[in-house]
Amino acid sequence: MITLYTPATGFPDLEAKIAYGLARVGLETYGVDKVTIQNDGGFYKVTFLDEGETDLLDQNFNLLCRRLLSSPFIPFNTPGIGGRSANSIALDEDQIFSLKQYLSIQHAIANRKNENVCKHKSRSTGNVIGLTALTSFHNKRDGLDVIAQRKNPRDKSSPKLPRRPTNPKNICKSCALLALLGTWYASFVFNVADREVISIPIPRGRVRGTKLRELSALQHQVRRLWINQKVPQSLIPFMFLGQIPSSARILDGFDLFMATLSGGGSRAYRVDGIFLITIDSYLKFLRANSYNIASIENMKRREAFGALQCLNDIIYYGKKDVLPKFARLYCQQTSSRDNKWMSMLYPETAFYLLKEVAMIDPGIIQNEAIASLARTLRYFVREKKYGYADSIRNARKESKDFEETVAKMLREARLRLEQNEKIHLPTDDEMKEIFRLADKDFDKTKTALVILAFSFQARSEENIETEKEVRHA
Ligand SMILES: [Zn+2]
Repeated sequence: MITLYTPATGFPDLEAKIAYGLARVGLETYGVDKVTIQNDGGFYKVTFLDEGETDLLDQNFNLLCRRLLSSPFIPFNTPGIGGRSANSIALDEDQIFSLKQYLSIQHAIANRKNENVCKHKSRSTGNVIGLTALTSFHNKRDGLDVIAQRKNPRDKSSPKLPRRPTNPKNICKSCALLALLGTWYASFVFNVADREVISIPIPRGRVRGTKLRELSALQHQVRRLWINQKVPQSLIPFMFLGQIPSSARILDGFDLFMATLSGGGSRAYRVDGIFLITIDSYLKFLRANSYNIASIENMKRREAFGALQCLNDIIYYGKKDVLPKFARLYCQQTSSRDNKWMSMLYPETAFYLLKEVAMIDPGIIQNEAIASLARTLRYFVREKKYGYADSIRNARKESKDFEETVAKMLREARLRLEQNEKIHLPTDDEMKEIFRLADKDFDKTKTALVILAFSFQARSEENIETEKEVRHA
């Protein structure tokens, strides 16, 4: 067995990329079932199940480098690597590398000044944003540590210009090339409006070669992704994952490191945002049913970013009190503006949110009395008459708001029924049941009521209706 170690640079994105680069060399050398990556906290252990020397690995590494990295094309197309760095990172013709320096653990050794961040002694290149987003100027850094310096310090009359103190660090060339191989093997590069995004899956434990192959397939799929909308930055992870439904299965067991970059081309790259997030709750939501993915798609298409922000708060931060507000925003922002058609929540998504996020038990969610009153409330929602839903949403238990709103709504419903409108009314028994539930569990009852009113009629409800009709007949 051969074990290689990433250099423990302290940059989580760089470490993962180097690990993926090493794994890629191993995959080409020994095949997919012989390779494992293990996150050891701060560095990765990359193991190949093969007796033997590293010579074959070295051979393949040099071959891969020559095949892919001997022109600045790939470096130049990597977000965060500008033209000049692309040239310096590309392979020089005479360079030969060895992976022997990855055979020993480096993490206990302190990083000295002027030393490569990877502590390898071989020839170096700049540790630029494209290799690790954490070395960069942050876009919002102005005003924090920008100092004014005279253009010519000796000349008191020369103008003062803003300067950013920098802390440039180098990295050895073989680490840089491995990071590039890793970037274009198992991380995701895509665009959101005028920004480039690079997203690296960070394994929490052990990852096998077969999983790496799946990541690589996903990588290819994402390469063409261009979200051509100005999206709030905090929504990018959720939207990105919603865009690739297969991620829900493949990315299980990974965290996500994500950096959004602006600039590029002739301008210098800058980092707009860096996230290192756990994505379990997102993946759970995406995996639950296909309507959840369709809901995201719908909000994206209609640019309902307010609603999407609410859903993000609900899923990522578990803010269940935002649920009714989300339902309202979803209908409002995804329906057509000219009132021609009304968009509502899919029942499957509504049930998921009520059950998995709000933790409301089926006794309330599937209660026929609640479904019945929700139907009446839905009639007004469909007319974009949100007053009743809002009053119920904001009602507090101590006040009589809930009872009064419901009574007022039922009065209007009865009036409309007399005018031959097709509006459903709950029975007296159903109303008794609702007040009993509200007395027992006020918040859950009103949340279920509002969410169901803002969603399409569930199929089971249609059945109840047909049954009733049959019984009447
Ligand atoms: Zn190195």
